Amino acid sequence: MNIILFGPPGAGKGTQSKYLVEKLNGFQISTGDILRDEIKKDTDIGKKIISNMNDGKFVSDEIVNNLLKIHIFDTKKKNKLIFDGYPRSLTQAKNLEKLLKESDQNIDYIFFLNVNKETIVKRIEKRKILEKRSDDDLETTLKRYETYIETTKPVLDYYSKNSNFHEVDGAMEIDQITSKIEGFLNV
Ligand code: AMP
Repeated sequence: MNIILFGPPGAGKGTQSKYLVEKLNGFQISTGDILRDEIKKDTDIGKKIISNMNDGKFVSDEIVNNLLKIHIFDTKKKNKLIFDGYPRSLTQAKNLEKLLKESDQNIDYIFFLNVNKETIVKRIEKRKILEKRSDDDLETTLKRYETYIETTKPVLDYYSKNSNFHEVDGAMEIDQITSKIEGFLNV
């Protein structure tokens, strides 16, 4: 089963994907984590993306798509992919479709965690204290939200026509969101 978790920053994608990883014995594909890892290891890619990441801007489709490929073709992860934060643009959505087709896979479920701006700001403020992420200040949060609205909205319109697309109220408590998702998955 391959699943996409979709929604603005702070919607709870990371939390729910960790739950799904455990429940389904899956692999979380968080492009945010993959990119932060490049920065931590101070790779050439890391050096290129650090300012965009800290400014709350997207990293180029080319870089993200290249980093993603290895995970999709990893045979131990086949049909166990939980996408968290990817795709975020139409180019990425089309790239994902192509790579999944080439590796004989599909998207089984798309969950859109829908949350308004106020809730996100509150959550990010909390996460900033807990996780100390360098892109978690209020200004960056708002920029990330605007970037999301501009760039990711077309992906939402694109996916919302699919029969495997489900919208979940991301303002609910974590457990409530989880049980909604469980209900759709029938597990
Ligand atoms: P996240 O951890 O998913 O909130 O992502 C943190 C940051 O990583 C974003 O604000 C972007 O700068 C970058 N990022 C993560 N995923 C993507 C993606 N799919 N495309 C472009 N940039 C991304």
